[in-house]
Amino acid sequence: MTEKIRAEKTRAGVTGWPVAHSRSPLVHGHWLKKHGIDGSYEKIAVAPEDAVAFYGNFAASGLKGCNVTIPHKETAAAACDVLDEAAEKMGAANTLWLDEGGRLCGANTDGIGFLGNLDQMAPAWDDRHDCAIVLGAGGAARAIVWALCSRKFTSVHIFNRTFEKASEIADQFGLSVYAHSWDKLGTFLGKADLLVNTTSLGMTGKAPLDLDLADLPKEALVTDIVYVPLTTDLLKQAAERGNRTVDGMGMLLHQAVPGFEKWFGVRPEVDEELRRLVLDDLEQTS
Ligand code: NAP
Repeated sequence: MTEKIRAEKTRAGVTGWPVAHSRSPLVHGHWLKKHGIDGSYEKIAVAPEDAVAFYGNFAASGLKGCNVTIPHKETAAAACDVLDEAAEKMGAANTLWLDEGGRLCGANTDGIGFLGNLDQMAPAWDDRHDCAIVLGAGGAARAIVWALCSRKFTSVHIFNRTFEKASEIADQFGLSVYAHSWDKLGTFLGKADLLVNTTSLGMTGKAPLDLDLADLPKEALVTDIVYVPLTTDLLKQAAERGNRTVDGMGMLLHQAVPGFEKWFGVRPEVDEELRRLVLDDLEQTS
């Protein structure tokens, strides 16, 4: 009997290179314990030279599914038989699972995590959806632009140091998404319903994000996906002048929800206990 239970134990994990820094085992470990599930969530380092073979022959890993982190999100998406709309659009998957028929399915849940965080921390935040300003044009920005388009923002304006990268995203997402160089930001701030920082500026150890918010409407919501520190200078500055603010921790937690549900069959909750657990860990290790 014991052997039978062992054989049926569901295994999942985070794959990438490196994976040592990942907080995902803490999050999924918490949910496994909370729901009394006899499963495991492991750290699985996949070297770049092994990635095509690993994802291409995923069933051989013995995992029900996994998260995928840098630098394998594109390789993982290419190996999937089925992709959700976001992963298809981005050409990158961060969540994989094997379905009943043994097909490898992939999703990109960063955008869902971004939306889940705002829905939870700032209910009705998207009632005003005329103009969103996105700072940055990296991988996270692409997911967030997808998310904002899915919530029918009339216009999404991307500002990035490297204009070409902003332009690439705008071209991909079509008519309501516009690319701008950083120096044009001042012209648009006064129209914003939402301001999102997706650059790594303001993160501990990185250069500061130097912004003058004087023209930003007081009704605009300001959110930063950087979560170390939790309250970035941007959020501090915005809160002091009366804007609603949301930090980036919830995005990290909400993006994990769909994977856990696919692998272990229970939709877990992002609650204060989980948030505290991850915050404590960040405080101890950063
Ligand atoms: P990425 O693909 O490397 O993109 C980095 C972005 O920051 C680019 O737009 C880059 O501009 C900009 N940037 C970096 N240094 C800059 C500088 N000195 N001056 C101006 N712009 C600069 O990274 P990513 O994956 O999108 O992640 C971005 C940040 O979001 C990271 O801090 C990451 O930890 C955080 N993040 C948080 C979550 C969450 O769950 N909360 C999820 C994903 C990412 P260029 O294009 O000009 O280089």
